[in-house]
Amino acid sequence: MIDVTKIRKDFPILKREVNGKPLVYLDNAATSQTPQQVIDVIVDYYQNYNANIHRGVHALSQEATDHYEVARQKIQKHFNAKNSYEIIFTSGTTHSINIVANGFSTLLEKGDEILVSAMEHHSNIVPWQMLAERTGAVLKVIPMNLAGELLMDVYDDLLSDKTKLVFCNHISNALGTINPIKEIIDKAHEVGAAVLIDGAQAAPHIKADMQKLDVDFYTASAHKICGPTGVGMLYGKEEWLNKLPPYQGGGEMIAEVTFEKTTYADLPHKFEAGTPNICGGIAFGAALDYMNAIGFDAIAAYEHELLEYATQELQKIEGLKIYGTAKNKTSVISFNIEGLHPYDIGSILDKLGVAVRTGHHCAQPIMDFYKIPGTVRASFSFYNTMDEVDVLVKAVLRAKGMLE
Ligand code: PMP
Repeated sequence: MIDVTKIRKDFPILKREVNGKPLVYLDNAATSQTPQQVIDVIVDYYQNYNANIHRGVHALSQEATDHYEVARQKIQKHFNAKNSYEIIFTSGTTHSINIVANGFSTLLEKGDEILVSAMEHHSNIVPWQMLAERTGAVLKVIPMNLAGELLMDVYDDLLSDKTKLVFCNHISNALGTINPIKEIIDKAHEVGAAVLIDGAQAAPHIKADMQKLDVDFYTASAHKICGPTGVGMLYGKEEWLNKLPPYQGGGEMIAEVTFEKTTYADLPHKFEAGTPNICGGIAFGAALDYMNAIGFDAIAAYEHELLEYATQELQKIEGLKIYGTAKNKTSVISFNIEGLHPYDIGSILDKLGVAVRTGHHCAQPIMDFYKIPGTVRASFSFYNTMDEVDVLVKAVLRAKGMLE
C-alpha cells in the first residue's frame, strides 16, 4: 500500500505553486520529480567527494569510484543482469540506443531486415533508419490497431531468417501500452534475431528482469525514475557487447594506445569513453533504492487505480477522446477534445497549475496513424493523488468552456 501523503513530503517541488495555483504535476512520462533522498546524495557528492573516477590514487577519487561502481551494482541487481559489466552507464536511453545502432553497422549486410514497432519514440526509430541507410538493411514496421496494440500475427509473418534485429518499447510513452515483450523476444530469437527493448517508460512502473526476459539489450533513463537527467543505462548481454565495436573513442575506454594501434578496455569501460556523469550515476543508484523501498508492486497497483479513476472521469467529458485503450496499459492518458487544439488546452491547464504535455510526444508516426496533430498527455506517478485527478478533470472542463 502506498502512503501518498508521506511520500509527497519527500518531494520538495510538489509544494510549489505555478501561476498562483498549487502545482499538479502530470508530466511524469516526460520526466519524474526528484525526492529529497536523491537530492541529498547529489549534494553529498559535490560537498564531500567530488573527484574523477578510475584514475586517481587519492582518497577522493577512490571514494567516487567506489560509489559509482556500487551504483552500477545496484542497477545490475535491480534489472537482474547476470554481470555488473553488462550495465553500461550512458547519458540516457537515446545514447544507449545509438551505441547499439552504431555497433550493428559492422554486423549487418544489404538486404538484412530490421523490425521496429509502430509505436516507437523517435529515439527508437531514427538511429535504426540511419543504420539502415549505412548498411542497406531494410526497416519494416510491426503495425498496431486503433487501441494501440501491436498486431502480433503480422509480427509473426514479418519474422524470417532475414530478420537480424527487432526494436520495440516496453511501454509506449504516447499511449501507455504495455507491449508483450517476452513474446516479441522469444519469437525473434526463434529466427536468430537480436532484440532491443526500450525500457525508458517501463522503468518507472515495472521491474524488468533481464535474465528472465532473455533480452539482448534493454535501456533506461534515470530521469524517469526519480533520478537526475543526463544519465541512464544500456544493458547488453555479454556476448553481444563483446561483438559490438565501441561507440566513441577516448580516455577510459582503452587498454593500450600507441600511434600504430589502440586496444580497447574490457566491458563495461569499452563503451564508457571520457569522464562520465559520475554524480548522476551515483544518484541513479539512489533513485532505484528509493523506488525499491516503496516497492514496484505497490507503485504499479496504485498507479493503476489513478489510471482507472482518471480514465473514468475524463471519459465523462463530452467530445473527449482517449488514444490508447489497450487492455494492458500504464498510467498515461493521451486525449483530445473534438474541435480543440491540444496546445490550447495544455496552455490553459498550465495557467491552472496543471502540468501536462501536449504535442506529438516524439512519436509522430503514432499521430499520423490517428490522423491528429498531437494529443494532451496526462501521465501519473505514485506521488500523484486522486484529488489531483479531480483538479485535472475540472481544469479540462474549464479549458473546454473557455475555448468552445
Ligand atoms: N523512449 C521512450 C519510450 C521515451 O519515452 C523516451 C523519453 N521521452 C526516450 C526513449 C528517450 O529518452 P531520453 O530522452 O532520456 O534519452
